[in-house]
Amino acid sequence: MHNLPFDRPGRFWRGNLHTHSDHSDGALSPEETSRLYQEAGYDFVAITDHFRAEYGFPLTDTRALRTTAFTTLLGAELHAPRTEFSTEWHIIALGLPLGFPPPDSAESGTELARRARAAGAFIGMAHPAASLLTLPDAESLDAAHAVEVYNALSAWEDRGDSWHLCDLLLGRGHRLGAYAADDAHFQPKDPPGCAAWVQVRAESLNPNALLAALKACHYYSSTGPEIHDVRLHDGKITIRCSPVSRVLVTGCVPGKQLQAGHALTECTLPLDMFRASAYIRVTVVDATGQRAWSNPIWLS
Ligand SMILES: [Zn+2]
Ligand SMILES: [Zn+2]
Repeated sequence: MHNLPFDRPGRFWRGNLHTHSDHSDGALSPEETSRLYQEAGYDFVAITDHFRAEYGFPLTDTRALRTTAFTTLLGAELHAPRTEFSTEWHIIALGLPLGFPPPDSAESGTELARRARAAGAFIGMAHPAASLLTLPDAESLDAAHAVEVYNALSAWEDRGDSWHLCDLLLGRGHRLGAYAADDAHFQPKDPPGCAAWVQVRAESLNPNALLAALKACHYYSSTGPEIHDVRLHDGKITIRCSPVSRVLVTGCVPGKQLQAGHALTECTLPLDMFRASAYIRVTVVDATGQRAWSNPIWLS
């Protein structure tokens, strides 16, 4: 009935969906980048170099870095003109086929994203807050599977949170997922990586299984806490998680449901106030301020 991942077969696999290597403007090679994530306890990484002429339109081939314990998704950050306040779009495309043709100067962001999706890719609307995307911009990217609601690099620069735009899109009926990502470049001026990730529910650590789960919204996002279960029952919601100090349920109504406490690991909240909202979503915040977010949960 719901798109919740928690009781689906398989397990959660931790990954970063947005990273740059020295094939574009990142500091580290794909090998070094991949090793760094693996050593930090990740199960997979997507190296998404800037698909721009100045770098030779890289679609970084990381297949040789796959092992039985760690895998990679092939992808890129696509660019094309333009948004209301920026000369170019930033679009994450994962699962792109090698040889995906570069855009020509006439191709718009909307068209490029559609072409990437038609080629099999998962499409993410990258760092909307940092790009100052407007609601009309976002609605024009109709190929998007998800909004990058938290970008750790943008957060470092004080524009990391894109939930406002995502909630507006969801409230208008767009059935989008929501993911957090590093956008790591590992340059000296940058924040450390491994700060924001997804936990993807799939039966195996297989790139195709991970991509299918991403497209189906079978994941949640985090900068620290774990969400173990979210369950709807009798007009209520029950959340189980690693120890946190706040659990919030929000939807497309101005208010929220909140439970605060010390080292909460389970809480049940009523859903009455969300009768006018087509969806709800869950945020948990730990004692150090780190967060985890469920995907939007559709109520009808
Ligand atoms: Zn970008
Ligand atoms: Zn990027």
